[in-house]
Amino acid sequence: MDWGNPLNIKDTIRTIPDYPKPGIMFRDITTLLGNAQAFRRAVDELVQPWAGSKIDKVAGIEARGFILGGAVAHQLSAGFVPIRKKGKLPHETVTIAYSLEYGIDEMEMHKDAIAPGERVILVDDLIATGGTAEAATRLMQDIGAEVVAACFVIDLPDLGGRAKVEALGVPVRTLVEFAGH
Ligand code: AMP
Repeated sequence: MDWGNPLNIKDTIRTIPDYPKPGIMFRDITTLLGNAQAFRRAVDELVQPWAGSKIDKVAGIEARGFILGGAVAHQLSAGFVPIRKKGKLPHETVTIAYSLEYGIDEMEMHKDAIAPGERVILVDDLIATGGTAEAATRLMQDIGAEVVAACFVIDLPDLGGRAKVEALGVPVRTLVEFAGH
């Protein structure tokens, strides 16, 4: 699609300093989502390298990954798989623990959500340390998914998350970068 105008996706992302705690620059994508042109363009650009290839499922990480991932799944004519915080999914699940800045958390998906060999794209709004995306990728690989790519609107390159996901053999696509945390 030819956008023919200078819309800059980065300019549509709002930054809230010191949220949720001092020193963190919170990158708020609700302003991007609320901008029709930016939302469409972000979804189109996220999956542009895989637009012609067969993708079975798009997996989104709770909660902002659901919004972007749902739109991406529609765009690729793929199914959508929610990856959720522990205890939210009603059927039989597979679970993985991962480290947060303070302590451990767990994420889950339905055991039957992805069949072995299915081609999956992982979607979230932002990659920081990469701990969340690394865990989600492992969770899917453990049940036999072929994770074709991991896509994020925002990269915080100073935190090195991209390398963690790439180390699992998964290419990472991001659209905009912000320095720092
Ligand atoms: P990480 O596991 O460190 O890569 O953190 C990624 C997850 O935390 C994503 O689901 C993001 O939505 C969220 N996150 C981390 N840092 C920020 C930030 N500066 N602004 C907004 N969301 C963030």
